[in-house]
Amino acid sequence: MNRRAVFLLILIAAIIGALGLAGVFNKHQPAPTPPKVETPTITIAIDPGHGGHDPGGVVGNVLEKDVNLAIAEKLATLIDKHSGLKSFLTRSSDVTVKNLDRLKSAEEAGAILYLSVHTNSYSDPHVHGTEVLVDDTRPKNDPSWLLAESVQKALVVATGTRDRGVKSQSLYLEHTRLPAVSVEVGFLTAADEGAKLLDPTYQDKIAHGLLNGIVTYLKETGALSNSDNE
Ligand SMILES: [Zn+2]
Repeated sequence: MNRRAVFLLILIAAIIGALGLAGVFNKHQPAPTPPKVETPTITIAIDPGHGGHDPGGVVGNVLEKDVNLAIAEKLATLIDKHSGLKSFLTRSSDVTVKNLDRLKSAEEAGAILYLSVHTNSYSDPHVHGTEVLVDDTRPKNDPSWLLAESVQKALVVATGTRDRGVKSQSLYLEHTRLPAVSVEVGFLTAADEGAKLLDPTYQDKIAHGLLNGIVTYLKETGALSNSDNE
């Protein structure tokens, strides 16, 4: 073959290749379906306070860590049922987890907020009600305050318990940049409330209240659209 023939052969091969890429020889194949546009799922970190060697408050044979886990698991189930949301639990059994490891695992899971569940104790059995704590190093424009207000309000509505308000104190939550709150859902030491906190029906009410507070916060901050419902 002379050089001209070689050149023609290469040219023909190139044209056939290009037609193949353009789909001329693949007309029987269906057009590829466009990828589904899915709204990204938001991960919510739920922390059942204490666990393992750390029982938290101890009232008779009731250990705070167990009550916290029961409520946190109910909340996680509700979150997973809610469109656009999924839960991340910092512990799902009775194990010791360091506070800083809880924050780290939540961050690594890609959570956009961190909510720690606790039950309170006090020497006076008349003291009862719900309060939400924010770390006192958070500036006033930190979204943790909005999250705290939203959760506190929804929890009081859901349970009818006494509103002890949003408070600030020094907490390990200063070690995360995530919006973070610690919820004291009620007093194990309170005469009436202490018994209720062990009742699965009341725990469900608490979990619904916490979910509503989280969802309201997510809608107010634009992370969740108003069309995303349970
Ligand atoms: Zn606690």
